[in-house]
Amino acid sequence: MKLQNLHTHSIYCDGKNTLEEMCQRAIELSFDSIGFSRHANMFYDSPFVKPHLIPEYFEKAKEMKEKYGDRLDIFCGAEFDLYSTEDTDLYDYIITSVHYMDVDGEYVAFDRSADEVKNMVDKYFGGDGLKFVKKAYEESTKIGDFKTDIVGHFDLVTKHSETTGIFDENSKEYKALAIEALQAIAEKVRVFEINTGCVPRGYRSSPYLAPFIIEELKRLDCQVCITSDCHDKSYFDVSYNEAKERLISCGFKNIAILTKDGFKEEAII
Ligand SMILES: [Zn+2]
Ligand SMILES: [Zn+2]
Repeated sequence: MKLQNLHTHSIYCDGKNTLEEMCQRAIELSFDSIGFSRHANMFYDSPFVKPHLIPEYFEKAKEMKEKYGDRLDIFCGAEFDLYSTEDTDLYDYIITSVHYMDVDGEYVAFDRSADEVKNMVDKYFGGDGLKFVKKAYEESTKIGDFKTDIVGHFDLVTKHSETTGIFDENSKEYKALAIEALQAIAEKVRVFEINTGCVPRGYRSSPYLAPFIIEELKRLDCQVCITSDCHDKSYFDVSYNEAKERLISCGFKNIAILTKDGFKEEAII
């Protein structure tokens, strides 16, 4: 199977490694391609973004293409939020992810620790986990309003649902909210990622996306790619096999691989 990881963070945002270390790790693991996806700048302060390093990011990415391009296809992308302010045209591809919700004009983060998420649900949603989910999925339907190549960790709301029980991710009510948002986004964006990054960080026992979501993507004839949302090269290919098995069990025979000519379908084997 063609191996690609389009969701990687580096010292240019909140990752541990240089672009070169990431490329070398990808080559060691026999990956065919890599995409860098630093967190894009937002109009308010974010701890993840290092705007002063943007010029160096582009320079280094270019240098990596020249140095490793014969062994690895390299793409220079970014992970945008709904409230990012950068020019999407500067990048080879864009992942759009929702980490923040606009709650009555306040930008509320939910890609946070279990305690912070519990406190946020108490403060803004009266302790009702499903009200939080409803708001987060409503926000996520805006993804289709921006230039987006890949929808990032669509079911991020489940980051702590296994460990905190703030809502039941197997309930009919939860699944209906997820499916409604998924269908709205899929009208505009056709590629979603299976994101394994939550596993090594101990948040979840298995990757985003849940099987019922992948089955719905299949029904909607969308494409999927596998990424590890890598912040540390030690976990570059974490849970790729599990993700692959999940895709097969949900009916997918192909994955989407980004090429210089856009996404191509490749067999999962
Ligand atoms: Zn993210
Ligand atoms: Zn990320």
